[in-house]
Amino acid sequence: MEGNALRCNVAECGEETANGVVVTGCLHAICLQCAGNYGLDGPLPAPCPACQKTLEESEIMVQNLQVSEDWKSIVMCGHDPTTMMEATGRAITFWSYHMSQKMSTLLPSEPVGP
Ligand SMILES: [Zn+2]
Ligand SMILES: [Zn+2]
Repeated sequence: MEGNALRCNVAECGEETANGVVVTGCLHAICLQCAGNYGLDGPLPAPCPACQKTLEESEIMVQNLQVSEDWKSIVMCGHDPTTMMEATGRAITFWSYHMSQKMSTLLPSEPVGP
């Protein structure tokens, strides 16, 4: 999965989040290190380290990205297909957005065109 990981949205960090990531209600991806440094693992609310939005307990999801086959077998079980597809769709939107952000930081910053 190298090169295919989300990057931490904390401006001074930008590390790849290979093992785990904290996803916020404002749709930022924060690496576990920054989440600890900025108090997202402590009592909430706390400000998002990427955009300063106040985050409540319900707006933070810690995702372990080292998943097992067992986890894949059961994570969605019990939900109805509509809920599953909705959650999957939103997760894909989140992923695409973050991948396009990542690509844009790799592109040359000079304006293209005449
Ligand atoms: Zn970070
Ligand atoms: Zn944010």
